[in-house]
Amino acid sequence: MKKIHIYPLLLVLTLILASCGTKKYDALIVTGQSNNSHNWKASHTTVKQIIENTDLFTVDVAISPEQGGDMSTFSPNFKSYDVVIVDYDGDSWSDETKANFESYVKNGGGVVVFHGANNSFPEWKEFNKMTALGGWKGRTEKDGPYVYWSNDKIIKDTKPGKGGSHGKKNAFVIDTRQAEHPIMQGLPLKSMHTTDELYGKLRGPAENMTVLATAYSNPKTNGTGKHEPVLFTIDYGKGRIFHNVLGHVDKSEDMIAYKSAYFIYTMQRGTEWAATGKVTQVVPEDLPNLSTPLVLPAYKQFTLEGLFKNARKYKVGQSKKYLNLISQRIKNHSSNAEYMANIEGKMIQLLSADDCTADAKNYICREISWMGSDKALAVLKTLSSQEETSEMAKYAIDRLTQK
Ligand code: ZN
Repeated sequence: MKKIHIYPLLLVLTLILASCGTKKYDALIVTGQSNNSHNWKASHTTVKQIIENTDLFTVDVAISPEQGGDMSTFSPNFKSYDVVIVDYDGDSWSDETKANFESYVKNGGGVVVFHGANNSFPEWKEFNKMTALGGWKGRTEKDGPYVYWSNDKIIKDTKPGKGGSHGKKNAFVIDTRQAEHPIMQGLPLKSMHTTDELYGKLRGPAENMTVLATAYSNPKTNGTGKHEPVLFTIDYGKGRIFHNVLGHVDKSEDMIAYKSAYFIYTMQRGTEWAATGKVTQVVPEDLPNLSTPLVLPAYKQFTLEGLFKNARKYKVGQSKKYLNLISQRIKNHSSNAEYMANIEGKMIQLLSADDCTADAKNYICREISWMGSDKALAVLKTLSSQEETSEMAKYAIDRLTQK
């Protein structure tokens, strides 16, 4: 009897499985037109970057003809993608393209809609079912109720009136309403978002909709006085839609809303959820909090190296952002000896660096006083003989040697 060589077979199987594991999902951004107060060129390139920063997606872009152009030529192949991100507000698509999009979603396709895209297609019933809510372009009570949050539940208000409003741009707190949803798991229950438009008075079919997060639209900044839906999901056929109302950018190309950790994380997590029904991304370490928006200039979380590089410029009176983020990492990993040894090494380097301010060194001295080891004593001794750092360095030495 011939002997079967099972090990080479296993090896081949393992290799096949490993290559499946690294396969990326396919995402398509549909864009090319926006209304006059928005800037599709700036928004779609930034969202592409944000989605690519997850390392989970290959992102293509379908750009429509210009406003007034021949829309019959615009026919993206939706069904070859796992998720379609709509960053479009302009001329109607052809009936064929609309039908292709509907059948893509009905058959299980994922969709992400954000900010101005919910202004689009007021006449296209199925698109409005997918987005649940939209604004402007003649939307009124004929298009569906207003939706807001009150006493722990969704209120659907059918009173007559225009759909769509926003107050003055400002930074605002966003409240999680479905903490167990995969998109929201591990994110703070209250997060400060950067300066952005907060949409209010949106209206639409609002069917099969789950509100994940809301924000209070403050009358002091001409808001509605209601807790307006900010993030929600919609089931449509077998498809999943993630709707994020954040993300204003206009001709000024001020990308501040897109640099918000809250926007970045929810777009990344929402896109994965729309594509797969799950979120495998780990919860980021640098989280926004209730009082200060967290700005991420590279549209992704800082590296530890990046935090230490920025922290060394700190002077009293300036934002402690980078130092606070280092403290946060220490807190998150305090039971991980390897991580703590690594971060202590970086702290010692910082304390020895000529280009690090005394104020940053004093902050790090306090931190190292409770989590450091004997390894820090040499540099602390040096600092204790320098006027600007002597007090904190002596304090740290005292605490470390009393252990
Ligand atoms: Zn806007």
